Amino acid sequence: MNNEQSARLRLLPPVHEFVSDLLKNEEISSFYSSAAITWAVRNSLDKARGIILHTNHNLSGELNSKEKFWQYPTEEFSKEIRKWLVKEVISQLHRSGSTLRRVINATGVILHTNLGRAPLAPEVARFVGEQALAYNNVELDIETGSRGSRYGHVQDLLIELTGAEASLVVNNNAAAVLLIMNTFANQKEVIVSRGELVEVGGAFRIPEVLKTGGAKLVEVGATNKTWLRDYKEAVNSETAMILKVHTSNYRIEGFQHSVSLEELVQLGREFDIPVVEDLGSGSFLDGVEYGLPKEPTIQDAVKNGASLVTFSGDKLLGGPQAGIIVGKKELIEQLKKNQLMRALRVDKLTLAALAGTLQLYQRGEVLKIPVWAMLSKTNDALKEEANSLFALLDGSSSIRVWVEENFSCVGGGAFPTAVLPTFVCAVRPVKNSVVELERYLRSGDVPILARIERDKILLDPRTLLVNDFEEIVKKLKIWD
Ligand SMILES: *Cc1c(COP(=O)(O)O)cnc(C)c1O
Repeated sequence: MNNEQSARLRLLPPVHEFVSDLLKNEEISSFYSSAAITWAVRNSLDKARGIILHTNHNLSGELNSKEKFWQYPTEEFSKEIRKWLVKEVISQLHRSGSTLRRVINATGVILHTNLGRAPLAPEVARFVGEQALAYNNVELDIETGSRGSRYGHVQDLLIELTGAEASLVVNNNAAAVLLIMNTFANQKEVIVSRGELVEVGGAFRIPEVLKTGGAKLVEVGATNKTWLRDYKEAVNSETAMILKVHTSNYRIEGFQHSVSLEELVQLGREFDIPVVEDLGSGSFLDGVEYGLPKEPTIQDAVKNGASLVTFSGDKLLGGPQAGIIVGKKELIEQLKKNQLMRALRVDKLTLAALAGTLQLYQRGEVLKIPVWAMLSKTNDALKEEANSLFALLDGSSSIRVWVEENFSCVGGGAFPTAVLPTFVCAVRPVKNSVVELERYLRSGDVPILARIERDKILLDPRTLLVNDFEEIVKKLKIWD
């Protein structure tokens, strides 16, 4: 430690003194207890000490703009460090000790698994908040006062929206497939086309899930071609089920053939075996109306006779993480009796988020669901948003900005071949590198995730939410 460093360390305010200063600030003291403030002050002082001790040789060089307090001469240091500490304390209190925080998705990938997939509609989030703050009737029948069904709260909505006889909700779609395998195919055979043995990210592979559920996988056909006779030849007395997996995240183009759900249902009837379809990112809406390729809807799968259909809650549905199963009542009843259900069940907040989102479909307020609002943004709207971001950022000396045409994508393994034309705001740093700019955008309380394309950063307005524009501008304006 050199003299300058020890002088600065001595100028740091004592914990109790700084805490009592902050307690006089109503903006802070009316929201946080003195215990929380003390905790945040201790952390912030530790961080300041760390910066003072470790930025020794880089006095004017590579400091983050937030940490400039170190560069002030000792006379001004006292004042500057206090300003920095107030900001740091507020940001620590804001984060409430967790590493989990809101991020801005400027990547243009609508369903980004790393970024939590679907954001909820504001009114759905409000509904979840209300249920979170109180007790609710998750397992109570209000009418009779006796125990009710956890799943009854979304059952009517799911039946109305899909046309199925019954429904069940579990933790996620992987859990839905696992539960189905374990209930109906434990120690028995399940027939799946070789072209559908997919991996859907995070090491979730269809063959592994079948195995975990106790099922014996019987692969039929070839990677590119499977025919009805392949399935038929595989049926025997050990066959528990035919599983069709929607290969949502890749596509075989060209010389290929797969068997339709209707044909499989026909075959299933002949041999009295259930046909289950894992739709992955199932959708209630026909994507074609939104400029997307033709894909079967959940209602199609139900109508075409699948015994059970499974899909995710947080992909195209635009709700919370959940695995939804709809289909024949008799089979759903058997699923409910499986002991695994206790481990796979969803909590009241997930149910609230799902019920709220399903209600938006029921009322025809689909564009209130962020995923569908993003999917259906028009070219004109995207151009206007990119232009307004450009206008707000233009004139900064540290970056060069312009608008260009590019593509967004759906993500989450849905519509792999869909290209969604968009207009992006491109940003190129004047003196720093794009890597530095990208890292800077990712730093701080509200990280901004953007796409790097060679020597520029692209900000795609398609996935930006209302307050995001202001945050992006605020952050880029102070970059130098
Ligand atoms: C995404 C997906 C899953 C897994 O769904 P989660 O809800 O993430 O568990 C399973 N099957 C298919 C076909 C998928 O696309």
